[in-house]
Amino acid sequence: MKIAILSRNSNLYSSNRLKEAGEARGHQVDIIDTLHCYMDITSSRPTVRYHGEELPLYDAVIPRIGASITFYGTAVARQFEMMGTFNVNESVAISRSRDKLRSLQLLSRKGIGLPRTGFASKPDNIKDLIKNVGGAPVVIKLLEGTQGIGVVLADTAKAAESIIEAFMGLRANILVQEFIKEAGGADIRCLVIGDRVVAAMKRQGAEGEFRSNLHRGGTAEVIKLSKQERETAVNAAKVMGLNFCGVDLLRSQSGPMVMEVNSSPGLEGIETATGKDVAGMVFDFIEKKAKPNSNKTRGK
Ligand code: ADP
Ligand code: GLU
Repeated sequence: MKIAILSRNSNLYSSNRLKEAGEARGHQVDIIDTLHCYMDITSSRPTVRYHGEELPLYDAVIPRIGASITFYGTAVARQFEMMGTFNVNESVAISRSRDKLRSLQLLSRKGIGLPRTGFASKPDNIKDLIKNVGGAPVVIKLLEGTQGIGVVLADTAKAAESIIEAFMGLRANILVQEFIKEAGGADIRCLVIGDRVVAAMKRQGAEGEFRSNLHRGGTAEVIKLSKQERETAVNAAKVMGLNFCGVDLLRSQSGPMVMEVNSSPGLEGIETATGKDVAGMVFDFIEKKAKPNSNKTRGK
């Protein structure tokens, strides 16, 4: 098959591993820089142009669209869908996943376990906002944060109020969330492909740190999931409409709770921790599913 990886940088571990795994299976795999693609969206025959030439008709695209280029990146992905190319993660699903509030609302509506979460822009009663998620301690998150930056633990209601007021002063949208203490500074990354968790790792925060992000000094190790954890991760992916994603869970007293669903999951951490060929499994999925015009929305 002819397969394109949409990626800003062909030197990234994940893009390289995907290319290598696809080529090892005999596919032609091109890494295409998403921002360099341009197109005539009014033509009755949709195409994508790149470096002055029309791109060939690919059988499948693997979108690796970073949060900072979601808007343009999903438009390019949509153009491929209109051409009938199979997109591993559809453009609408990527857009959906980039909106944290929309994602949590969708997951909650479908009964997926979530930490009690409130969100606010300019609450007129901060005390009530805190009480409403069960009171202190609470975790306060900047909506635009990544890699654990802008995620703060407030031990007391007083501290929570001051932090919320400070964020408010910056005109930031925030999430206020019940603190899952029993997670013990760890979370679980489940790598979902299709309707299966193909790899999972536990990330443990550094000593005295409640955030488990590897960027914050956390460490990763392989972990065995319970049936309920597997089901939660697979259901969360399904609700989001993502075929290839990372679902982050917290282990709580009342079962697994989803924190986030990531539509461009990195492969380095999970492949290193588990020794699994996740990139290869992406191609197993493509080989099974990539038929022309088989995306649900086809760019609509
Ligand atoms: P980011 O998207 O920036 O990584 P997260 O929401 O994933 O932010 O939070 C970073 C880390 O903080 C998580 O990986 C988890 O270890 C910890 N954490 C986040 N929310 C909670 C919570 N409600 N209870 C306990 N720990 C949490
Ligand atoms: N194609 C529709 C749109 O872009 C789908 C919306 C959705 O499923 O979220 O509005």
